Amino acid sequence: FSNEVQNTFKFADLSVHLASPEQLQQKPEVTALQFGKHFTDHMLKILYHESLGGWQRPEILPFENIVLHPAAKVLHYATELFEGMKAYRGVDGKIRIFRPEKNMERMNQSALRAGLPTFDGENFIKCLCQLLSIEQEWVPHSESSSLYIRPTLIGIDPSLGVAQCASALLYTILCPVGSYFSGTGEAAVSLLADPRFTRSWPGGCGDKKMGSNYAPTIHVQQEALGQGLQQVLWLYSDDHLITEVGTMNIFMFCINDSGERELITPPLDGLILPGITRASILELSREWNEFRVSERSIPMSEVVHLLSENRLLELFGAGTACVVSPVASISYRGETLHIPTERHKYPIYAKFRQTLTDIQYGRVSHPWAVPI
Ligand code: PMP
Repeated sequence: FSNEVQNTFKFADLSVHLASPEQLQQKPEVTALQFGKHFTDHMLKILYHESLGGWQRPEILPFENIVLHPAAKVLHYATELFEGMKAYRGVDGKIRIFRPEKNMERMNQSALRAGLPTFDGENFIKCLCQLLSIEQEWVPHSESSSLYIRPTLIGIDPSLGVAQCASALLYTILCPVGSYFSGTGEAAVSLLADPRFTRSWPGGCGDKKMGSNYAPTIHVQQEALGQGLQQVLWLYSDDHLITEVGTMNIFMFCINDSGERELITPPLDGLILPGITRASILELSREWNEFRVSERSIPMSEVVHLLSENRLLELFGAGTACVVSPVASISYRGETLHIPTERHKYPIYAKFRQTLTDIQYGRVSHPWAVPI
């Protein structure tokens, strides 16, 4: 026996307590699904207590409320981080998750910065797969829907000190989600680019998936909605660099100064979340080798200039929620910039969407899609 703090929990220690038949809920109609409103019957819970040796045994148990001490750090200092993943039911009936080890890497990076305990991602993924296999009937039988996975880590020490957490709770809840695009087809989005607002800055936490990054965006999103626009295009610095769109990474496809087609996305310089969809799009592009690929900053002046010369071809957001989301317009300094993203016969954003969803729904076999 050692007094060493356990630096991870183990899948081998997982205990499962299934809900009784009366506790099981009716599954909602996939078409009636509003994001994040319906939860499945079970959850995964893992406690961390430094005083008890660190990580405790993982448990799967019926979905339940969480009871917290009123001084719990998460309630005062937003000591919280999360991930967003999906389970897809493939055309062959198998359920798959997409590059889960990437979410685990990002989650541990967020935990380090938040003063929360880190853990072994592989053991977590095994516990998660067990939860998914118990809840498999909740994974919609549809190629436009999926089961959203929300791993969450919170600091629960019952003390008000701003300090490293000695107690934490890692849990995961699941919710079926319908097609991101309601109605017919996908609507390209209109954006508000207002330099009065920013979501991140050098040395900050914009590259971590902490809850504290999201609450301050709600007011700005409301501002966009109030102007009849759909999402916020986040700018940074006096150069009005474009960083992200809503909760997505951004890509620009254009004809560069040398007359070549080029796909450009902002670099991982600490200002943006290192998206897994972003990484996948970059990897696919480099593999296809059909156009130049660059990770570099894009000032709004470049967007305006390329548009004026008809060299801006497409602008789109990329993330787990909707894979890729084409941009139709940007409201910037009192003007509306119309982006021709949807006006091409074979747009590149549609090729990325097709390729990624083919992998996720098992229409093609690919190592990024991991069967549960
Ligand atoms: N940026 C932000 C701010 C996000 O919240 C997300 C969603 N996780 C993304 C980008 C896209 O990341 P991913 O492709 O991993 O979903």
